[in-house]
Amino acid sequence: MGTLLFHSTNEQSPPVGLREALMIGQAPDKGLYLPRQFPRFAPSELTEFAGLPYHEIAFRVLAKYTAGVIGADTLAVLCREAYNFPVPLEEVQGLERVHVMRLDQGPTCSFKDFAARMMARLIGRFVRETGKPLTILTATSGDTGSAVASAFHKVEGVRVIVLFPIAEVSDRQRKQMTTLRENIRTIALDGKFDDCQALVKRAFADPALQHLSLSSANSINIGRLLPQSVYYFYAASRLARSGEPMVFVVPSGNFGDMMGAVIAGQMGLPLRKLVVPVNGNDEFPRFLETGAYAKIEPSHACLSNAMNVGHPSNLARLFAVYGGRMDETGVLQRAPDLARMRRDLFSTSVSDEQTRATIKRAWADHRLLLEPHGAVAWRGFLDYAETDPQNGAPVAVLETAHPAKFPEEIEKALGFAPGVPPALAMLDKLAEDYDRLPVDYAAFQDYLLAGHA
Ligand SMILES: *Cc1c(COP(=O)(O)O)cnc(C)c1O
Repeated sequence: MGTLLFHSTNEQSPPVGLREALMIGQAPDKGLYLPRQFPRFAPSELTEFAGLPYHEIAFRVLAKYTAGVIGADTLAVLCREAYNFPVPLEEVQGLERVHVMRLDQGPTCSFKDFAARMMARLIGRFVRETGKPLTILTATSGDTGSAVASAFHKVEGVRVIVLFPIAEVSDRQRKQMTTLRENIRTIALDGKFDDCQALVKRAFADPALQHLSLSSANSINIGRLLPQSVYYFYAASRLARSGEPMVFVVPSGNFGDMMGAVIAGQMGLPLRKLVVPVNGNDEFPRFLETGAYAKIEPSHACLSNAMNVGHPSNLARLFAVYGGRMDETGVLQRAPDLARMRRDLFSTSVSDEQTRATIKRAWADHRLLLEPHGAVAWRGFLDYAETDPQNGAPVAVLETAHPAKFPEEIEKALGFAPGVPPALAMLDKLAEDYDRLPVDYAAFQDYLLAGHA
């Protein structure tokens, strides 16, 4: 088999290999990279996964994409290093064959660790091979910045600059970024998340900064998507009988996590239904219902704040898989196969009020401890279950963050604060170090030119 090529969803830029797709992030025509044809597993290969540890499944899945780019021995080491934490599948009391997959055991306690830790290792590898240092510039509303900063911490040849809105991140989220130091610099911006993102976008397009080798680590990078397909294979290997289709429930914002499941399906994992609940930003369930797409601008600020996305960039990829084409502004240039999408997907919008009620109900009914993102997922699962009663298929509902990241909401709903894992508890003892900037592009440009990048 030759090296796998990635095509742009806008269909204008030439296809590229994995290394280039990872290093440049977005295609020159502003589309997102996706393989035109996905590598596939034979059913017998999937059956073997049942006896394998997580990092070995990660190796087998990712090896399909890295062939000819990264040696098998090297990839095996990267997978073992990246996935050195547990991936619990918690049985839900009182319900048959329903599990919650807790993707919150990584160093920053959100599912974003799974992607960031592999992408950092791959990029670190490419930087070492080319000998050309790189600066990763990223804007964050919380979870992405900490996962990316933690993953690239001490990676040689890579510097990371994270911009975050000073008043919009929690104390714990801030400390996860500002206590690392070394090759990680953090900037607290006296502005909103949108301001952070605007400064970063402008820097990428600034000819005066072209010599700096800036790169992004946001969720449009295919390097963040591929590792997110692995935990679906893992869950199925533990919960499904050989060849039996799974139901996955994925709380969604930018639709990168759910694309991991779509990719797993394209690679041969049998899926009965992919359930994608969203918060008050309901552009996708509306599309699925009506066939008309309208983004939400500005996005609604909901309790599950990591899912406050009014136009998910990964929809360009989802529609591409279903034969459609959505450009970078959110306009559907070619309609996807809506009937097939409706058959494969179920989506629903969950309000903040329902999210709070669900935190209570899941605890009361099942002793299931959920934070707001997981509660959106659980409520979406209950809505879906009504449409498909007693199907008997194995279900994995994804919990994407650790409850201890949202102690206030849980204490309000349940009357107690969740236990704090060591990775978060330790933060209080570490000293913070960050710079502060106003919302002013000239000041940001000076900062980068002054040798911080
Ligand atoms: C980022 C995030 C999500 C949303 O994931 P997408 O890939 O953007 O859909 C859900 N939950 C948590 C905790 C997150 O950090």
